[in-house]
Amino acid sequence: MSEPDINWDEVIEEATGILSRYLTIDTTNPPGNEEPAVRFLEEIFRKNDIDDITFYDASDEVSKGRLNMLVRLPGDGSAKPIVLLNHTDVVPVERSGWDEDPFSGLVKDGIIWGRGAVDMKGMGVIEMIAMLLIKRLGIRLKRDIVFLAVADEEAGSEYGAEFLAREHPEVLDAEYVLNEGGWGTTQVMGVDRPSFSCAVSEKGPCWLKLSTEGRPGHGSVPHGDNALDRLLRALQRIQEWDRPHTVVPELAAYFSEAHRAGYLKDEPTDASILEMAESNLLYSALTTNTISLTTVNAGVKHNVIPATAEATIDCRLLPGTDAEAFIEEVRAVIDDPQVTIERALVSNTPPSPIDTELMDVIKQVTREHVEDAAVLPSVSTGFTDSRVFRNAGVTAYGFIPVLQDLSEAVTIHGHNERISIENLRLGCQMMFEIARRIARRISS
Ligand SMILES: [Zn+2]
Repeated sequence: MSEPDINWDEVIEEATGILSRYLTIDTTNPPGNEEPAVRFLEEIFRKNDIDDITFYDASDEVSKGRLNMLVRLPGDGSAKPIVLLNHTDVVPVERSGWDEDPFSGLVKDGIIWGRGAVDMKGMGVIEMIAMLLIKRLGIRLKRDIVFLAVADEEAGSEYGAEFLAREHPEVLDAEYVLNEGGWGTTQVMGVDRPSFSCAVSEKGPCWLKLSTEGRPGHGSVPHGDNALDRLLRALQRIQEWDRPHTVVPELAAYFSEAHRAGYLKDEPTDASILEMAESNLLYSALTTNTISLTTVNAGVKHNVIPATAEATIDCRLLPGTDAEAFIEEVRAVIDDPQVTIERALVSNTPPSPIDTELMDVIKQVTREHVEDAAVLPSVSTGFTDSRVFRNAGVTAYGFIPVLQDLSEAVTIHGHNERISIENLRLGCQMMFEIARRIARRISS
């Protein structure tokens, strides 16, 4: 196999320019308004003679500009497509916390600043560059490579992946998906050595709303039927609920691989993993069904006993947990039939298999590009659009091929989100190689 001749300096200059401009398009969700972002990407594809583009408009009475876009590089059909998935919306910013304007697309000292630099406009550009290069080099494909830019990921995907699954299920007809969910870090398990998480599974959101009613009254005469009192008792019981910690098979596989690859000295056991989880918030979250109390609403006035009260709780369930059974447990813990439980978002998905051609390619490409780095199949605490594909039987991996230190990693959803040009280069090179190897037609 001859190696393609690519002037990477030129490619990365191009990628930097694209990402910088892309970051100036404010797609903060809510409201999202992803259409201008999608049109921006469309124009670049068309300029590069990539015209197999389909739009899926999820806009409705409530929300406009919710455009999704699918761009296809066709293969000969002898294998099913790989989807390079990315979302065009971003989470809100608190401007006062930023050192630079989050929507200026500033490039300074080798760093590209902006909300979405990694999550996930940066990844979108990395995927786009892979498409452009494959097109320019005339690489012949056995499978379609599909660039899928979706809306609304940051707010539950109702206008994005969920909409596509419901209204256009043909979009999900693929063998593989590459998406967010895992990335490279310069340090893992206390060892200063690069590793890449490749998310094969994720915890399932189980967002519940608790509400209760009581009798209104004057604050000066308590009567024992105060809705807020009742809600607080329920929340108190939830907080005191001691849930077991367990090691699911997907997490055990992560630690075994870390051991095999030499990051973890001793062979991990369930007991040793649970011990690590005691002093590590991330591992703790990965070994139990977590609950965060997130909002409480009650009352109208200082001296009025409220007649209604409600709260939202954000539960995240381990892979393999039966959400309905969990909700029944919550009900039993609250132990008050006057508190009603409503489901706001409940989803759980099967894990993707670890032994695949795509995983082999990811491992190979990682070894070749980052010295001494291994790929660890991981479980993500957050949920991503991968769930929609996994539920449709597609193998979906969370793998953003950039290598971040801790100070950069915390900027995702936080202040000062940014990506170094060096990381953009690594990402473009790795993504191109992964896409090329998994999709190219090997002529006889
Ligand atoms: Zn994201």
